[in-house]
Amino acid sequence: MVGAGPVGLLLTALLQSMDGVSVRLYEKRREYTRTRMVQLAPYLMADSVETYRADAIDGDSVEAIFDPSELERGLAFRQSIPSELSALLKSWALGFCPLNSIEQSLSDLIDARGPDGVERMADVVTAKDAIAMLQPGDVLIDSTGSRSLLRDQLVLGADDVDGANTVHVRLEYALVITFLYGQPYDCNESCKYYKNIENAHYKFIPMVHRTHFDGSVSHVTGIVNISAAEFEAMPSRVDGEWLRSNFPGVAESMDRFIDKVKEETHGEILGDLEVVRIPLDLYRARNATNRQWLAATSSEHPFATSPVFLAGDSAIGSPYFQSISLGFECAMFLAGLIAQPDLPLQVMLDRYELYIYKQWLRVYMRSKMIKHNKDLFESLDDPLALLDKLHIY
Ligand SMILES: Cc1cc2nc3c(=O)[nH]c(=O)nc-3n(C[C@H](O)[C@H](O)[C@H](O)COP(=O)(O)OP(=O)(O)OC[C@H]3O[C@@H](n4cnc5c(N)ncnc54)[C@H](O)[C@@H]3O)c2cc1C
Repeated sequence: MVGAGPVGLLLTALLQSMDGVSVRLYEKRREYTRTRMVQLAPYLMADSVETYRADAIDGDSVEAIFDPSELERGLAFRQSIPSELSALLKSWALGFCPLNSIEQSLSDLIDARGPDGVERMADVVTAKDAIAMLQPGDVLIDSTGSRSLLRDQLVLGADDVDGANTVHVRLEYALVITFLYGQPYDCNESCKYYKNIENAHYKFIPMVHRTHFDGSVSHVTGIVNISAAEFEAMPSRVDGEWLRSNFPGVAESMDRFIDKVKEETHGEILGDLEVVRIPLDLYRARNATNRQWLAATSSEHPFATSPVFLAGDSAIGSPYFQSISLGFECAMFLAGLIAQPDLPLQVMLDRYELYIYKQWLRVYMRSKMIKHNKDLFESLDDPLALLDKLHIY
């Protein structure tokens, strides 16, 4: 396994408790220090098909895309997860959670179980190293994140051409503005509308959730749509002061929204605002395994004999707070496949590819729907502009 981010660590923890499997886990970072907060989807901890499909936006898509037996198998695997690991997953799903706690607790859990079955290597692995290390009987998993080490190597004849194995959709450019608020606070669609009523442009669209450790602190992450030119003109990370001096229009919108929250709930912002500018992209690997290599005739290349899988952001990436949950979902599925040693290799690869494709359909439709809803929301006060964005029949 190359990459001990959240997905590589979860997969390692799942494989560690399986008979007959030993893991060598490579990670280039010496310690876990990431500061961002993430949110896990409640469906990760679902205990029935109904709760798995409870999501307001994609419940119907899940029913349309997945067979009931598939969902049942996924739930059965979830229920077999060792209790200490499943307790961690449940606690993270309570609210926004520091990514660092997820990584550190998984890492500690793997270490606490003892050295049997997992060997950890603090090293940067190159694609060449990974290929050279691969021996018959090994499974190579690339969980190195969005700039995947091996994604482009999985296409035969592409000679590692950048993007050769990637479908990429840019949804928008956004400023992600994050702060902690010292009162319980929640926001539905009416609240988003009324708190933005004076913001003709740069509507501040919040994602609000309690923090996982304290019900009285709310974590607010607001997304503000910006143009490509504005994106280019900004450093990647700024604070509230910088934003107020350099992009007063965006800052006024944000401040108006925050003032209304304070008026209503009488709280204060805890600490600083954090402002990050990011392109909101959706992407997937066309091949999430080395099936092309394995199908090709007699090659000496190690990819022609041993399976390779992409997991987590290596395989699929999405915006709007979904990506880590998707990565965990795929990690559980892959662990479920590896737990069946009698499964023929071809079947294993086909099942993983199909599963990744179905998850892609689900997240693609969900993300396009969110983006479409956001676009409509921007024009709510202008019926003609709103109608322009609607295709009713
Ligand atoms: C600002 C921001 C906010 C986000 N908020 C959310 C959110 O609220 N909800 C959500 O679901 N997702 C969120 N995400 C996305 C989420 O962080 C990722 O989906 C998640 O981290 C992906 O996990 P991963 O393990 O697949 O990859 P990564 O977290 O990228 O981990 C990859 C690991 O591989 C290691 N590595 C890479 N290359 C090598 C190499 N050559 N050799 C050895 N090691 C290597 C890296 O050091 C890293 O530890 C956010 C992302 C950003 C940027």
